[in-house]
Amino acid sequence: MVVVAGALCDGGRLLAARRSAPAELAGRWELPGGKLEPGESPEEALVRELREELGVETETVERIPGEWPLKPGYVLRVWTARLLSGAPEPLEDHDELRWLARHELDSVDWLDQDRPAVAEAALRLTAA
Ligand code: C5P
Repeated sequence: MVVVAGALCDGGRLLAARRSAPAELAGRWELPGGKLEPGESPEEALVRELREELGVETETVERIPGEWPLKPGYVLRVWTARLLSGAPEPLEDHDELRWLARHELDSVDWLDQDRPAVAEAALRLTAA
């Protein structure tokens, strides 16, 4: 099973989202995303998840190479994404959002499994 997450970049900053559940992950920060639904491509799933969780329209840009194990049977794959419209709000699954500049990325406690992708995303952060 694939979980997709988005490194959403805007104005040279990356969006970090603090999980509100489940208890073992609550308070940790992640790249927002979720599970694929049947028949969806990963890119479609990511655009849907970011719409549902954050209330924004986005487009995927490129896959960050690699995949990272989650619980047994699940892997995390990450795409960079661009904000098309809206301002992210924590509608589902999160209780706080922060736009982080490259030098601020270490200021939040990322989920372990998200750290390699955050490091890669940092290299791709542009002012665009
Ligand atoms: O968000 P959702 O609960 O659908 O995500 C499914 C699982 O994927 C979560 O249990 C979480 O452990 C994992 N996940 C993650 N990193 C992300 C997004 C989700 O580890 N950026």
